[in-house]
Amino acid sequence: MISRSRFNCKRLADYKSERPIMSKKITAGLALLTLLCLCSGSFLPLGHAQTGAAGTAQNAAIVSTTAAVLKETSELRELPILKSVKSGAQSRAEIERMIIRNLDDETTPAEMHAAEMTLKAFGLAPQDFAYRPFLVKLLTEQVAGYYDPKAQEFYLADWIELEGQKPVMAHELTHALQDQHFNLKRFENWPKGDSDAELAAHALIEGDATLAMTLYMAKYPLVALAFIRSLGSQELATEQFKQAPRALRESLLFPYEEGSAWATQLYKRGGWEMVSRAFTKLPQSSEQILHADKYFAYEAPQKITLPEFKTILGPSWKRIDYDVNGEWGCYLVLDQYLNDAIESKRASAGWGGDRFALYETSKPGEVFIAQLTSWDTANDAKEFFDAYAKRTVKRYADAKEAKNTGERIEWQTSSGSVELELRGSRVAILEGVPAATNANTLLSAIWQQR
Ligand SMILES: [Zn+2]
Repeated sequence: MISRSRFNCKRLADYKSERPIMSKKITAGLALLTLLCLCSGSFLPLGHAQTGAAGTAQNAAIVSTTAAVLKETSELRELPILKSVKSGAQSRAEIERMIIRNLDDETTPAEMHAAEMTLKAFGLAPQDFAYRPFLVKLLTEQVAGYYDPKAQEFYLADWIELEGQKPVMAHELTHALQDQHFNLKRFENWPKGDSDAELAAHALIEGDATLAMTLYMAKYPLVALAFIRSLGSQELATEQFKQAPRALRESLLFPYEEGSAWATQLYKRGGWEMVSRAFTKLPQSSEQILHADKYFAYEAPQKITLPEFKTILGPSWKRIDYDVNGEWGCYLVLDQYLNDAIESKRASAGWGGDRFALYETSKPGEVFIAQLTSWDTANDAKEFFDAYAKRTVKRYADAKEAKNTGERIEWQTSSGSVELELRGSRVAILEGVPAATNANTLLSAIWQQR
């Protein structure tokens, strides 16, 4: 459900020391090949446009290979096959049509606009960045196969050679088995306002399927070799992916990379049974994915609310986003400017909960963001406060410090003032405060929320 992915997903690789048997290249390749595997749901059942003898033969080969890999995957993943899985090949044109239909069905123009403005407001994408056309190009470039929970069908792109694709099929067919046992449709249309919990659920779904694929390759080394050869030879199209803003790129990889590291820890602790149980006891935050011990302890994130600022800002302002960044989101917001993974990681650890609200006016580029973050301890809050102060100076090249009491800092910038305030284990942040608005009034409104 990439269409709805906000930047509040994020980050990859060197963040963790342990990863499954797979090399990073394979993990990344897999992510690229399967980005769309869960996207779906809202597109109509697609006709199989394969015509002629070659298409028929290819479809027959896909059908028989699907049956064989489904059986192997079912045994490996310890989930019985409840029904066979329909499969077929689709052309690039069919898949492109599906992507566009899916994007338009799942995401309203207002939601797409909000996602784009959020990326820009946090300084995670350039001002001229156009989200929707970029997503269409990116997804079209990356897709190679997908499982559609609505049609309960598995599709493989017809331009990719079949033999080397068995690991991808094992990944996609794990989704089919997940769907038969745990119902994947319930993850579509996730309630708005907590993208961090949605990201955690995707990390479970993708992490499970990626771990199953990893173990599949370990069990069938010749298949793994063919897969690796196919990765090397098919010139993975990665132009759009490489050009993606870092936060977007890393948010796309998070469910595969962090998700598989997390699923591996569950698997080591309690086998597939524990991974399966996670579909009932869902991970609740990116924090629980990044630190599996927090999932095992199942410490629920704090629910944070923010007031409606329109009454203070004035009638020309409109709230267009209201969401949770999570530990991962906080990490990326910091590291986009700090460029110091260790420091950003330390500052975003100890996350307890957060909420941000984004407002805009009809004047292009005029935005206001408010955030309230909560931390496990006063010390965690102070670390985040200090790191955010450092980030602010880098984010706004013309920032001039107007006030600094140690616990409250104000900067004047050409994009409005920035306010940062630490109170106990909480940090409030305002960015883009209009000159006509009293920052104290805004901050008081935030602190009155409990
Ligand atoms: Zn997948």
